[in-house]
Amino acid sequence: MKAAIYHGPGQALTIEQVEIDNPKEREVLVRTVASGVCHSDLHFVDGLYMWPTPAILGHEAAGVVEKVGSQVTYLKPGDHVIACLSVFCGYCEECMSGHPNLCSNKAATQRAQSDKPRLSQKGKLVNQFADLSGYAEQMLVHENALVKIENDVPLDRAALIGCGVMTGVGAALNTAKVAPGSQVAVFGAGGVGLAIIQGARVAGARMIIAVDKFKNKLELAKKLGATHAVDASAGNPVDQIRALTGDGVDYSFEAIGLKVAAEQAYESVRPGGIATIVGMVPLGQKVEVDGFSLLFEKRIQGCFMGSNRFRIDMPRIIDLYRQGRIDLDDMITRRGKLEDVNEAFRAMKAGEVARTVLMFE
Ligand SMILES: [Zn+2]
Ligand SMILES: [Zn+2]
Repeated sequence: MKAAIYHGPGQALTIEQVEIDNPKEREVLVRTVASGVCHSDLHFVDGLYMWPTPAILGHEAAGVVEKVGSQVTYLKPGDHVIACLSVFCGYCEECMSGHPNLCSNKAATQRAQSDKPRLSQKGKLVNQFADLSGYAEQMLVHENALVKIENDVPLDRAALIGCGVMTGVGAALNTAKVAPGSQVAVFGAGGVGLAIIQGARVAGARMIIAVDKFKNKLELAKKLGATHAVDASAGNPVDQIRALTGDGVDYSFEAIGLKVAAEQAYESVRPGGIATIVGMVPLGQKVEVDGFSLLFEKRIQGCFMGSNRFRIDMPRIIDLYRQGRIDLDDMITRRGKLEDVNEAFRAMKAGEVARTVLMFE
């Protein structure tokens, strides 16, 4: 099969042939139909995070089941699925206490190092990224990395749910539990930020402030539910948020992965407010808060993949999409082919797109 291979930071991905194995007991072979280009992949390409090479990146994909392992009963060939990197074992303490996105026993869902690798080139290991590797014509994954969806859901929009939309909507509804009538600020109006805005709208927030330095992104944010826009290039966004709210917002979200934006998100919440950091702050960087401000019961918290229980959450998001309460259509700025993956990274960096989705057929 054809895949986009990552050979190391600062290098363009290259399209190469890769062998993919047959599914073992609880594994599923999926034909990839659509794969979203998420910012997190770019963090690895840019060297802000590390992954062993060679590897196939991509972690926001949807497709059709081709083959299942001998013990798989949840899925059968022909089923449509969304893949999620929050693969769960189902029986560790995190899984059993309702936090499968934090599963501490992922090894139970992976092949042992002594096994034949899922992905290889001429007998040599190709590393699977995030237990998925979505920039490829096929994916070989554990069944617990998949959720079955109805066959009439458009798979390009379904792919977005696999990471960006789940992360954003989940950050608002699951992690922060945005309350009806509250005020919200979202730093970063890319794919994840737009999904947070939509999650806050579903939750019934009365004021949703989008913060970004790109005008085109702020416009889209307003279309998707932001009630106010703050141009971060026109002065300190914290001051601008205070000008709109007085004391600050009840909930803020950081969806870029910048130390300064994470700190501003914290500074922009009112006493008792909660800042949720969704973006991936580069490895080794500290996020600092003013110690005194903690006396006002301000909180800062992390978020991983929208605190998802994706087999429950993703079908709910699809229902909201069908009802017109979550807009996925406008979140896809461009569609391309696998070969367009490097151009998609460039466009994302330049702030030109909410999402590029790579289509395989
Ligand atoms: Zn992602
Ligand atoms: Zn687990």
